Amino acid sequence: MEFFDDAVNKTKEVFETVSKKTGEVIATEKQRFDMASLKTKREKDYTALGKIYYEFVKDNEDVPEGVKELVDSIKEKSLEIDRLASEIQGAKNRRVCKSCGANIDKNSIYCNICGAKLDIEE
Ligand SMILES: [Zn+2]
Repeated sequence: MEFFDDAVNKTKEVFETVSKKTGEVIATEKQRFDMASLKTKREKDYTALGKIYYEFVKDNEDVPEGVKELVDSIKEKSLEIDRLASEIQGAKNRRVCKSCGANIDKNSIYCNICGAKLDIEE
């Protein structure tokens, strides 16, 4: 059950990240959590698919029940994981203005909404 333990550890990591980074862009943490959750579900699909193929190769040459549905399900999750990954990547280049709370470019010197001077960030 190595991959299951791994998935549980990853879920814990996400929760720890949320509590440590309270006040930062929360949407990103939700996206990370959604992505980890989708990856775990996709792993289960892979496992189920592997079992079906095992039975297929083992016993007969007919197209097994459920294979197409699982392949579609994996494809769907992969697309959503890619979409979340690019959203998370995009959020890394954003910051929140401490003065007005606007979501602005990370490299801005002044907030383009309220005009407040922003702290230099590492
Ligand atoms: Zn502002």
